[in-house]
Amino acid sequence: MILFRRSADIRAHLQQFDAEGKKTGFVPTMGALHAGHISLIEQSRATNDITVASIFVNPTQFNDPKDYAAYPVTIPDDLLQLGNAGCDIVFLPEVNEIYPGGTAPSTRYAIGDMEYLLEGEYRPGHFQGVCQVVHRLLDIIQPDQLIMGRKDYQQCMVVAALIHALGLQVQLITAPTRREASGLAMSSRNRRLSSAQKEAATVLSKALQQIRQQLQPGPTGLLIQQAVHAIRAAGFESVDYVSIADAHNLQPVADWDGQQPLVALVAASIGGVRLIDNLPLSE
Ligand code: AMP
Repeated sequence: MILFRRSADIRAHLQQFDAEGKKTGFVPTMGALHAGHISLIEQSRATNDITVASIFVNPTQFNDPKDYAAYPVTIPDDLLQLGNAGCDIVFLPEVNEIYPGGTAPSTRYAIGDMEYLLEGEYRPGHFQGVCQVVHRLLDIIQPDQLIMGRKDYQQCMVVAALIHALGLQVQLITAPTRREASGLAMSSRNRRLSSAQKEAATVLSKALQQIRQQLQPGPTGLLIQQAVHAIRAAGFESVDYVSIADAHNLQPVADWDGQQPLVALVAASIGGVRLIDNLPLSE
């Protein structure tokens, strides 16, 4: 595995593979890697000749500076995991390498309503920051495939909208959420939980499963109320949202016709750690 810190160096290196007609898969991460991230590396290796991962905690997607400061950093362990997973190239840039002109946005990305719904509502500016970093990383890596996790369901939709809006040639591949045996969705932020909080946090996936099991055509409000109640009762100090939404545009669905594809999404905080999860309600 080869490590690059400079964008010009990694671009020059990748150029040679482009010339040879090799297919490149790219897995952007913020580090503190776990089996969910590694599943994306495996997905990339299955359909590409070269797999590139990046580790970069992007300051522009954090609306809360405390969250940015507390974000776990475990570079040596990350490199070990990537090497063991057969990742070919790692990009580990500093902030000024990604944003040589400063972090202030130079473009406003047209991603539609997605920007203001759910995560967009509770994390103002978050998705513009995600677009800013993904755009810059795609420009440097120029992969054939971009592999992202459906754990961040809305982020996948935003990145698809970004690729479409900019007319980029990259193919977005999304991979299923990896979970602990308890059902808890794997997340770098889980490292900040005590074992009791980790146990309590299993309520998120349980509440989503409950919605899936109890969903009937008709009003969805009661299912949402029950989920919020269960999450609070488990010890979460705040529940930003539980939403039963159209799987294609994330608009809330208050009255289900029994046909529309749905997804349930949740964001809630325990011990000051904000967790998200989601579950498709129909295949
Ligand atoms: P992050 O490092 O949290 O920015 O995540 C980097 C990539 O890994 C994103 O595409 C995430 O959606 C994906 N990811 C994070 N957690 C999981 C998980 N539990 N299962 C699958 N993919 C994940």
